[in-house]
Amino acid sequence: MEKSSQISGFHKLNLADRIDVFKAFAELTDEEAALLGKSAVLGMETAQRMIENVVGTFELPLGLVPNMRVNGRDLILPIAVEESSVVAAMANAAKMVRSGGGFFASTSEPLMIAQIQCLDVSDPFAAKARILERKDEAIRLCNEQDPILVKLGGGCRDVEVRVLDTVKGPMVITHIIVDTRDAMGANAVNTMAEALAPSIEEWTGGRVLLRILSNLADRRIARARCIVRKDAIKPGPEVVDGILQAWAFADADPYRAATHNKGIMNGISALVIATGNDFRAIEAGAHAYAAQSGHYRALTKWEANADGDLVGSIEMPLAMGLVGGATAIHPMAKLVVKSLKLRGATELAEITAAAGLCQNLAALRALSAEGIQRGHMSLHAKNIAIQAGAGGAEIEEVADRLIKGGKVRADIAEAILNELRKAHGAGN
Ligand code: NAD
Repeated sequence: MEKSSQISGFHKLNLADRIDVFKAFAELTDEEAALLGKSAVLGMETAQRMIENVVGTFELPLGLVPNMRVNGRDLILPIAVEESSVVAAMANAAKMVRSGGGFFASTSEPLMIAQIQCLDVSDPFAAKARILERKDEAIRLCNEQDPILVKLGGGCRDVEVRVLDTVKGPMVITHIIVDTRDAMGANAVNTMAEALAPSIEEWTGGRVLLRILSNLADRRIARARCIVRKDAIKPGPEVVDGILQAWAFADADPYRAATHNKGIMNGISALVIATGNDFRAIEAGAHAYAAQSGHYRALTKWEANADGDLVGSIEMPLAMGLVGGATAIHPMAKLVVKSLKLRGATELAEITAAAGLCQNLAALRALSAEGIQRGHMSLHAKNIAIQAGAGGAEIEEVADRLIKGGKVRADIAEAILNELRKAHGAGN
């Protein structure tokens, strides 16, 4: 009989009961269920304060990217990622970039946008003017919500209004622009937008519905650039043209741009996760920004300078914080942030932009020089060997033979493993 997932009072169950219910529902073995209910770093107490209905924690490897140099500072970047080759590729690219002095990065002010959607306004354009006439009052109202932020030099800076044509008729959309300092700022700006909403209704004669930040944080931009000396590019300077051609393809074609930008996010999201920041917010902002011209494009640009060296740059929204969210709670995020010895959240955004550019260089170089599979193969082959049942020294042996055979497939891994075991058995 099919089990029902509708369980009354589920949210009231304690951890042990939740695990029991899940174990029975999902038909887990004792061994599988033993993976739940424990945490080496976060702690089950903290985990249960962070989200609802917790049954366990989920680990990712934390790897170190050496060789990074950003704005003249040497860094070892700890990044959290499940995909093989990202760490190694970044470390290699960071080494090449050192030939040109490393990455140079900067940011705009940490300005976030929150939107207030106002409906049923009979005179939307005049309503826009009425809101803007009261800009100072609106800013004051917003700032009253967060005296701490204001004291730290942040707070609401500006108010903008757009009249939006939609399938449901015109809407008056107010944007509040808020300097959120070292916070990502979602809660901070949402609170301000909620507080301003009744005044917007009064000034427009309309009805406010949504009051929420925009993840298209295009006032909170991070930029990074680098020069890769043509002689420092492996295997040789001929790769420069390959990288330029690969980038031009991505910038012109959304099918390619999606994968190009995914590679950039390999570096960015891995650092965003390691620092406890909101990776969905960063991802949403990145892709919306990439499409802002009306055409989804590459987030990076690659050029050759007068000397024939490769010059790369990236520009994108990076709403990253050091206070609030998981950054302030997660012990591993705290450790990662501490290790970076940051001046503030804007420096974290600068380093993150550099990480994205670094990963992009690694991917473009590998793609245009040797194809991505070769670089991926060694770890991938080991994963396939493990999936086929190899353990201990067998993993290396099976992986080696898979690579030598030129085909990394689960069925071949199984056959190799059987052969190995037979041979070892015969020797006993
Ligand atoms: P927060 O509210 O926990 O902390 C921000 C507050 O900390 C500020 O308002 C300020 O009062 C105080 N503060 C203390 N020191 C500060 C400093 N040096 N700089 C700035 N502020 C300082 O966190 P938040 O950053 O407002 O919100 C982030 C959280 O919101 C994340 O967990 C995110 O996942 C979540 N969130 C995201 C979305 C979204 O992206 N769409 C929506 C809702 C919530």
